[in-house]
This record gives sequence, C-alpha cells and structure tokens, in this order.
Amino acid sequence: MSVKKSLDTILQKIDDAVLHCGRESGSVKLLAVSKRKPLEMLQEAYSAGQRLFGENRVQEAELKVPQMPDDAIFHMIGHLQSNKVNKACQFFSCIQSVDSLKLAKKIDNRCKSLDKIMDIYLEINISDDPNKTGYRVDETLLSDIEEILELNSVRVKGLMAIGAHVEDRAEIKNSFQRLQKLNDDLKERFQAYIGTELSMGMSGDYIEAIESGSTMVRVGSAIFGSRE
Ligand SMILES: *Cc1c(COP(=O)(O)O)cnc(C)c1O
Repeated sequence: MSVKKSLDTILQKIDDAVLHCGRESGSVKLLAVSKRKPLEMLQEAYSAGQRLFGENRVQEAELKVPQMPDDAIFHMIGHLQSNKVNKACQFFSCIQSVDSLKLAKKIDNRCKSLDKIMDIYLEINISDDPNKTGYRVDETLLSDIEEILELNSVRVKGLMAIGAHVEDRAEIKNSFQRLQKLNDDLKERFQAYIGTELSMGMSGDYIEAIESGSTMVRVGSAIFGSRE
C-alpha cells in the first residue's frame, strides 16, 4: 500500500475511534514515526498532508529535517543522550523522551542560548518494565517535575508512554488509563503543569490509547511498513 493510502486509512480509523468514544473530532493528532525510513517516504507523507513526524535518533534527524519543508514538525521520541542535546535542540520542535532532571536542565540551558522554548513531555515507564526507559511513578518523578516546571526555556506539555507489551487488550488499555490518571494527579498537584498532551498509542494499540484519552498517537509501521 502507498504511504498516502495507509495514512488515509489510519486517519479514518483515528477519527472513527475518537467519535466512537464521544470525544471531539480532531482531538487526537497523528505523529508519523518515520525512523529508519528513507526521506522519500517522509516526502510522500508530507505531500499527502502529514506535518508531524517522529524520529528516535538525533543523527537521523540531522540528515532528514533540513531536507523537509519548514512546516514539517519533528518530535524526538527516542532516548536522548546528554552529548546529543545540542543538536536535538536544533532539529526538534519537541522532545517527548525527557526522563531525568539532568536532561531537562541540559535542554533548558541549550534552548536559553538558542533563544527558544522547547516543548517537552516526560516519558513515563507506565508498566514498570525493566527493559524500558522513562520515569517510574515514584517520588523522584514528583521532585523532578517540581524543578523542571521552574525552568524557563522548556515547557512541559504532558506525558509520553509506551503501552504494556502484552497480548491482553484489557491490560494494554489499563496501562494507558494509568497514564491518564497520573496526568490528572499531576495537574491537580502542580499548578504550573499544563498537562494537555498525552502521547500514547502505536501501530498495534492506538485505538485503546484513544479510548483512554490519548491526544497524540505515534504510528510508524502501520504507515510506512515494517522496519525489519
Ligand atoms: C518506533 C516507535 C513508535 C512507532 O512504533 P510502530 O509500532 O511502528 O507504530 C512509537 N513510539 C516510540 C517511542 C517508538 O520508538
């Protein structure tokens, strides 16, 4: 299937799911995860109207972003190493994978000198999976977020998580609902926390994520094909 066809199909499915659970049309954005896919496929998606793209490696973004039109927006969704922060701040409009105070401070510092405010999401390890990155839901998260909210050159828009890696659909949905609940708790606890964005749901589970309040689904293989 062509990229355009797949995109149309996914957008239709997102819209159906949004309406099916009584949410407002257009309340879920699609981040097209283009990691390890050639530039031509991103351009094809762009021609079909897609503007939001997700990449997980700084080196790859460095090659792709300058070759895409200015209004293509790139979000970083992969683990970000300290030594890549400078370039990440240059090529990405949003960093969804912030998982430490140290990283947030580095981004803040860099953006200060670039005279730019970076949108960030805190990545949460919602299933407490030892193989996954992201914050555990614990005291460190609470004390870090308090400090991160005081930084002037980053804006914490919300949370990002990968759903439980299991077969059981109910358990997957459960993990998304835990993220939604955490977001509500954080909004209640911290005045400065905006928390308007919940980035959750991938090719295999975006319907469950939408049913659980996702505002952005990150879909790769269902649009661009499998990545080998
Ligand atoms: C690769 C990736 C995705 C997209 O995964 P698909 O299953 O191909 O849709 C979404 N989120 C993150 C963090 C990823 O690394």
